[in-house]
Amino acid sequence: MVEILLSDRKNIGLTQLQELLQNGFTCDFNDIEPWLTDWRGRYTGKALAMISPISTEQLSQAIKICAKFEIPIVPQGGNSGMVAGATPNDDGDSIILSLRKMNAIHYQRTTPNLILCEAGVILQNLHDAASEHSMRFPLTLGGKGSATIGGLISTNAGGTQVLRHGNMRALVAGIEAVLPNGTIYDGMSALKKDNRGYDITQLLIGAEGTLGIITKAKLKLVPAIQDRIGIWVGLESPHKAYEFLLHMSQRCGNQMEGFELISEASITRVLQYIHGTRLPINPQPWYILIELVQDCDDSKNVQILAETSLAEPLNDGLILDAALSTNETQLEDFWKLRDSISEAERAAGPAFQHDISVPVHRMADFIENISPQLEQKFKGCELIAFGHMGDGNIHYHVKAPDGVSQEHWMPLEKQVNSAVYDAVISYGGSISAEHGIGQSKLEELERVSDEARLFALRAIKKSFDPHNIMNPGKLIKPD
Ligand SMILES: Cc1cc2nc3c(=O)[nH]c(=O)nc-3n(C[C@H](O)[C@H](O)[C@H](O)COP(=O)(O)OP(=O)(O)OC[C@H]3O[C@@H](n4cnc5c(N)ncnc54)[C@H](O)[C@@H]3O)c2cc1C
Repeated sequence: MVEILLSDRKNIGLTQLQELLQNGFTCDFNDIEPWLTDWRGRYTGKALAMISPISTEQLSQAIKICAKFEIPIVPQGGNSGMVAGATPNDDGDSIILSLRKMNAIHYQRTTPNLILCEAGVILQNLHDAASEHSMRFPLTLGGKGSATIGGLISTNAGGTQVLRHGNMRALVAGIEAVLPNGTIYDGMSALKKDNRGYDITQLLIGAEGTLGIITKAKLKLVPAIQDRIGIWVGLESPHKAYEFLLHMSQRCGNQMEGFELISEASITRVLQYIHGTRLPINPQPWYILIELVQDCDDSKNVQILAETSLAEPLNDGLILDAALSTNETQLEDFWKLRDSISEAERAAGPAFQHDISVPVHRMADFIENISPQLEQKFKGCELIAFGHMGDGNIHYHVKAPDGVSQEHWMPLEKQVNSAVYDAVISYGGSISAEHGIGQSKLEELERVSDEARLFALRAIKKSFDPHNIMNPGKLIKPD
């Protein structure tokens, strides 16, 4: 009886949503189906309907209906997230909220360092819009053709230029959001100083849609790049890489935008599986990819800066070999080697993937001590470490022994993940550096977090969203 009443209430809510949104509402399975599975293909859920509002006001009305009838909402941008945060769970109780129709961009010459965009704007389109005004939005990542501003803000995304420009949190000047009761939070004035208590904007950044829906943002721009160069370096070990990072940071200051660590094993697979890739130097145990940029008149010429900075580490044997990109195509080729690692690895066989961080100065120790321990514990597996070493963030993958199928490797997932995350915590690190928690790290966050963190996360969630309608089952479980 109670169930019938509940589903009746939901049906009334769905009817009201349909009346409000008209063709921005669908419960046709064919429309919804492509959005029910996460990017990695690990989770598939069910949904009652999908709504695609065209404005903040319309969304606010829709959320008031959802709040009244307690219909859970799963916000979704480009569905390129790595932790299944935008995938509904499989009880089929919720609706998907697609922000993709809200995709306007406005640039005003009176505020040249800011750009306003709606949540559904795709990152690549924002890059293009900024460059039309000789400006640049400096955050970039491999999923830029799909990832949206709402998703990037909600996951506090990182990417390859964090070393200089910070993650999304550092690049947001203001946001507008619809809160779980349908009210509109206006934090768009982009004030440099604003001490009205809790910073609600920062609270919503990285909240993975569990506290409200981001509808608009004012984002910070920097001047467009005048010139840039890629440096591909070969060296012996992660420890040498850390010393090299210190050297290059001192010599290049904030002209160095990325410092990416890559292992020989990763590159071997890229060369094997990704068509048209070529290593610019002879094979070495480890590689670093650096990008130096020149974007203001008093910055140094990148070619000269690269050559002078490399002379000493080459002479001293800190690095073994180096190649500089001579044009944009070559630089793109360097990045292709780096960006294709995950794809090549997928082709090579199953792996458990971890996006982790430890303090920058401890990363080399972590890789060199923990990898052999895990290889010993899970016989035959291979540890692959690559990524944003300059930020203390690597992607740390535990690859199944050669010839072991996905089916036989999967039962070990929980055990392997726990071993990796315990090691990360013992190094003072985080089990999620830039991808968020979503569904896939929910249990582990509970397991490894201290009481104070869990208390604060639950208290915030409960006070914003007492009926748990905002992306339930993601980030934090209510009490
Ligand atoms: C090839 C590739 C490379 C990548 N590289 C990186 C990388 O280097 N660094 C990095 O950080 N990430 C990376 N990612 C992951 C991904 O691109 C980011 O997590 C991105 O922020 C997700 O954006 P999205 O629009 O696809 O969000 P979705 O996947 O749709 O959603 C992500 C989360 O945000 C919530 N959400 C979405 N829109 C809103 C909104 N408007 N309001 C409230 N909540 C919302 C969702 O509910 C979900 O919890 C990569 C992805 C791919 C495919």
